[in-house]
Amino acid sequence: MEYEAVIGLEVHAQIHTHSKMFCSCPVKPDTGNLEPNTYVCPICLALPGTLPVTNRHAVEMGMLAGLALNCTINPVNVFSRKSYFYPDLPKGYQISQYDLPLAVNGYLEVEVEGERRKIGVHRAHLEEDTGKLYHMEDGSVMVDFNRAGVPLLEIVSEPDMHSVAEVQAYATALHEVLVYLGINSGDMEKGVMRFEANVSVRPQGQEELGTRTEIKNLNSFRALTRGVAYEIERQIEVVEAGGAILQQTMGWDESEERTYPQRSKEFAHDYRYFPEPDIPPLEIETAWIEQVQAQVPELPLAKKRRLIATYDIRPYDANLLVSTQAIANYFETAAEQAREASIAPQEVANWITGELFRLMNESGQEITELSVTPEKLIDLIKLREAGTVSVTAAKQVLSEIFETGEEPKEAVERLGLVQISDTDALASVVQKVVAENPTQVGQYLEGKTQVIGWFIGQVMKATRGKANPQTARELLQHELEQARSEA
Ligand SMILES: [Zn+2]
Repeated sequence: MEYEAVIGLEVHAQIHTHSKMFCSCPVKPDTGNLEPNTYVCPICLALPGTLPVTNRHAVEMGMLAGLALNCTINPVNVFSRKSYFYPDLPKGYQISQYDLPLAVNGYLEVEVEGERRKIGVHRAHLEEDTGKLYHMEDGSVMVDFNRAGVPLLEIVSEPDMHSVAEVQAYATALHEVLVYLGINSGDMEKGVMRFEANVSVRPQGQEELGTRTEIKNLNSFRALTRGVAYEIERQIEVVEAGGAILQQTMGWDESEERTYPQRSKEFAHDYRYFPEPDIPPLEIETAWIEQVQAQVPELPLAKKRRLIATYDIRPYDANLLVSTQAIANYFETAAEQAREASIAPQEVANWITGELFRLMNESGQEITELSVTPEKLIDLIKLREAGTVSVTAAKQVLSEIFETGEEPKEAVERLGLVQISDTDALASVVQKVVAENPTQVGQYLEGKTQVIGWFIGQVMKATRGKANPQTARELLQHELEQARSEA
C-alpha cells in the first residue's frame, strides 16, 4: 500500500528588536559568552508587583511578517497566559496569543523541485521566549534568564506539506523571508529559529487524517528534514505492522538520528489559557496596518524571478543575489549601469558573487559598508572589457580598491597594471623571446604547436603579467610562422 504523509510546521522565530517583548531589557545575540542573568529585570524575572508593557516594535515586525505572508491582521489582539511549569519559565506561564492572534489565513509561495506551490499559513502570533537551562557536568542544572522575554513570532502552517522536499522548501523560504525583512537574524546556530513538526500518515487516497505526532527540538534545517523523514518512515512501519500511532510529543535525538516519545501530547485545555489581565487587548488601527503593508517589499522568490527575467542571469546567481535586500539593490544598480555600458549583467553577477563576496567574507563587511560602490565596480569591469587590464589584474585592482576606496583607474595606474595590448610595444618582446629560445622554436616547427602556451608564459614573464595574452598569441603565431617560412 502507498502512504501519504501530512505535515504541518510550527516555527518559532525570534523577532530582531532592541528590547524584550514586555520590558526594556536589551536583547543581546547569544554569542555563547554573555554573562548569564545580566539582561534581566523584575518584569522578565516575574517578580511580584511588576507590570508587562507590550513592545510596539515587536508588534510592528510581527505585522510585517504576517502581511508578507499574505495574512489578515486581526484588528484586536488578545494576549493570554499559557500556563505550564518548567524551570526556564519564571512566571509559571508564558504570555502568548490564543483566541485572537496577530495574523491569520495567509500563505507562503515556495518552489519545490522547480514547481510553484502555496503553503497555507494558519496563523502567526506573538509570544515571549523562555530562559535557557544548562546541564552541568556534575549533574547540576543552571538557568540563564537572558533570553526570557525575548519576542517570538510563532508561525503555524496549515498541514499542507506531503514530503520532506516540501518541508525543506517551506522552512528555507520562511527563513529567507524573515531574514530579508530584517525580522530575524537568521543565525540558526544561535537558536533564533526553531521548528516543530506535526506529522501523520494515511493510505494514499484516504480523506481522513491519521493520528499525528509532534516532533519538538528541531533546531536546524538538517534536524528538521531528518526528523520528519524518520517519523514518516516510523509511522508507516507501525501502521503496516497493524499497530496504532499514539498522539504524542516526540523528541529528536540528534546523535542517534531518531525520534523518541517524550510525553503524551498536551491539549490546549491543559494550558488553561485565559486572557492576560495585566495587558489590555491590543487594538490595531487600519492606518497602522496600511502603513506596515506599504513597507512589505518584493519578496526574495518574486525578486529572484524578476532578476532572471530582466537581466538574463543564471538562477544560481539570482539566488545568491536575493539573500538580502541590500545585495539585491547593489546588483540592480550595477546591472542597470552595466546595460548602459553594453556589459552583460551576468558579468556583473559573476563579479559580485565571486570576488566581491570573497572579499566581504574575509573582511566581515556588509555590502552597505563597501567603499567599492556599484559605479566603481562597473568602471572596473569596463577597464577589463576594454582590455586595459587582464582578468588577474582586475581582481588585484578590486581587492586594492576594496581597501583604499580609490577609483579603479587610479589604482590601475598606481600599480602599473595597464595591460600591454599595443602591438608595437609587444612585438619587440615577442621577437626577443622567440630569438632566445631556438629549442622551443624547433619543437613548434616539428608540429608541437601547443608549445605556444609556453611562449605566452615567457612573454608574460618578460612583461610582468601585463601583456594582453590574446595579442601576445597573435604576435607569437605570426613570428613562429615567419620562422617556418625561413626554415
Ligand atoms: Zn526585563
